[in-house]
Amino acid sequence: AKKQGKDRLEVFEPALQAAFQASLQMEADLRRAVIRHEFELRYQPIVQLKTGEITGLEALVRWQHPDRGIIPPLDFIPMAEETSMIVPIGEWVLREACRQAARWNARRDGKQPLTVSVNISAVQLDQTDLPRVVAAALASSGLPAACLVIELTESLLVHHRVSTLQQLEEIKDLGVRLAIDDFGTGYSSLAYLRRFPVDIIKIDKSFVDDVGDVPAAAALTLGIIQLGQALNLSTIAEGIEDAGQLSELTDGNCELGQGYYFAEPLNDKALGELLFPGS
Ligand code: C2E
Ligand code: CA
Ligand code: CA
Ligand code: CA
Repeated sequence: AKKQGKDRLEVFEPALQAAFQASLQMEADLRRAVIRHEFELRYQPIVQLKTGEITGLEALVRWQHPDRGIIPPLDFIPMAEETSMIVPIGEWVLREACRQAARWNARRDGKQPLTVSVNISAVQLDQTDLPRVVAAALASSGLPAACLVIELTESLLVHHRVSTLQQLEEIKDLGVRLAIDDFGTGYSSLAYLRRFPVDIIKIDKSFVDDVGDVPAAAALTLGIIQLGQALNLSTIAEGIEDAGQLSELTDGNCELGQGYYFAEPLNDKALGELLFPGS
C-alpha cells in the first residue's frame, strides 16, 4: 500500500500535472480554434536571386489565439498532427492560399503569375484524399495548377506508405509541382529524389547560414545547386539573411531564394502593398 502511495505521488507530481493540464487546455483551445477559424496566413516572397524579382510566395500558418496572441506553427502543428486537427487546418490553408494567390494574380496584369507554395503534413496524406482536396482548392479559387507548389519534408517521405507515391503522382497529374523542403537535413535526401516525382529542391537554412564563412557548408550548398541543375530541378535557398550569403548563392547559380534579407512572412495587407505599391 505504501509503494502504491508513492507511485501515486509520482503521477501527481506538480510539474508533470501542470504540463498535462496545459496540454489538455491547448488541445481544447485548438478544437475551438478550428471551429472559430482562428488561423491566419503569412506569405513570404520567393525571389529570383539574379534580379530580385518576386516570382512566388510561401504560405505559412499562424494561430491567432484570443488570449495568448499569435502562436507560431512549430508550437501547435505537432499537436494538430497528433490529434488529426491538421486535416481541417491544412485544408483551410490550402484553400485560403489558392484563393489569395488567385486574387493577387488577377491584379498583376501582364506580369508572370506568382506561384504559391503550401506546406503539407504526412498526416494529410495518410488521412485524406489529398489529390481531391488539392483539386477542389484549385477549382474553387480558379488558380491554375501550374501556380501551386506542394512542399513536402523528408520526414514525410521516410514514413511513407504505399499510397504516398500514388497520391503524389495524382497531384502531379493535376499540373501541381512538388518541392522537397529542408533538403539535405535528412539521411537519404538523394534516394528521395529518385523515388519521388519532385520538381523543386529547397536548400535548408542550416546550409545557407554558413555559406559565406564555412567552406564545407559552401561546398555542400554548391553541390546541391549543381545536383538540382543536373536533374533539371529548381533550387530555392531558404533563410537568406545577408548580402554575403546572397552573393555566394548567386555566384553558385542558385535560381531562387527567400529570407529576411528580402522580406519576412507578411500578412495580406503588407504583401498587397509590396506587390502593388501605391494602389
Ligand atoms: P519551413 O517550411 O521550413 O518554413 C520556413 C520557416 O523559416 C518559417 O518559419 C519562416 O518564417 C522562417 N524564415 C524564413 N526566412 C527566414 C530567415 O531569413 N531567417 C530565419 N531565422 N527564419 C526564416 P515559420 O513560419 O515559423 O514556420 C515554421 C515551420 O512550420 C515551417 O518550416 C513548416 O515546417 C511549418 N509550417 C508552417 N506553416 C505550415 C502549414 O500551413 N502546414 C504545415 N503542415 N506546416 C506548416
Ligand atoms: Ca516550407
Ligand atoms: Ca524549409
Ligand atoms: Ca523547416
